[in-house]
Amino acid sequence: MGTGESDVDCNETIERLYIYLDGELTEERRIEIKRHLDDCPPCLHAFDFEAELRVVIADRCKDRVPDALRQRIHDALKAEREDHPAGA
Ligand SMILES: [Zn+2]
Repeated sequence: MGTGESDVDCNETIERLYIYLDGELTEERRIEIKRHLDDCPPCLHAFDFEAELRVVIADRCKDRVPDALRQRIHDALKAEREDHPAGA
């Protein structure tokens, strides 16, 4: 008991990263994800990667991210996840 296990798993976390970064999650959800990121280096890494991309993208095209690019980011995150499976 008390290992700081969170309610969200890695897949959920990755999928919610987009929403998280869009600022569309509730405070409660954000805390859940943050807690998971603290406990899970692979997810934290994916988060950093995505957050950095956001900054670059926001810089270049102020309004929206093309679907093709989103897909590439998604694929990259998936590959990252397969490279570093989140163990126990
Ligand atoms: Zn994780």
